[in-house]
Amino acid sequence: MRLIVATKNNHKLKEIKKILKGIKLPIISLVDLDRTFRIVENGKTFRENALKKAIPVSKIYKQDYLLGEDSGIMVDHLKGGPGVYSKRYAGPDGNQEKNNQKILKTLSGVSFKNRGASFICCLALAKAGKAIKVFKGSLEGKISLKPKGINGFGYDPVMYLPAYRKTVAELSLVQKNLISHRAQAFRQLKKYLASKNI
Ligand code: IMP
Repeated sequence: MRLIVATKNNHKLKEIKKILKGIKLPIISLVDLDRTFRIVENGKTFRENALKKAIPVSKIYKQDYLLGEDSGIMVDHLKGGPGVYSKRYAGPDGNQEKNNQKILKTLSGVSFKNRGASFICCLALAKAGKAIKVFKGSLEGKISLKPKGINGFGYDPVMYLPAYRKTVAELSLVQKNLISHRAQAFRQLKKYLASKNI
């Protein structure tokens, strides 16, 4: 019995392994499996996408627990966008640098007060084709005026945390894991697994 994290993103897996340190189940990801899976992320919500990642693989690897994770950024000024489209915000040929540039450009001239944003993480735990539970975490901040910091990934350089006077990319991985949306959701998962003696 293993915990298979339905991701191919090594950055994420690294963060996840750190957060889940101490659980009984060995943690692996899709790249460690003997089959390849094409994940179709076409849900309208993070929850839907997290379930779409976990359920199909759990139908094949029936003995294992599957974990689907979906995350992204919701910007107040964009009425919650880019949301589930966070990865592709600058278009299908875009990359994260382009996403960050686009978000800064879109918000240029918007006051600090109106630059609110949240990182959201949804986790779906599944086994043998069935959803067991969904966990959610969020981290609130402001879209900065320019990118800053070199740690982390994604929108971290443009997510400013007023309480720390730093962007998330200026935090160490240890600091990020204390407060991040993903860490919060995973802590709930960890508690749940312990309560069920898994
Ligand atoms: P997915 O969950 O792999 O579909 O990707 C979600 C996208 O949201 C990523 O490509 C990033 O752009 C963004 N994202 C998710 N989590 C974080 C984070 O912790 N920091 C910065 N950006 C994130």
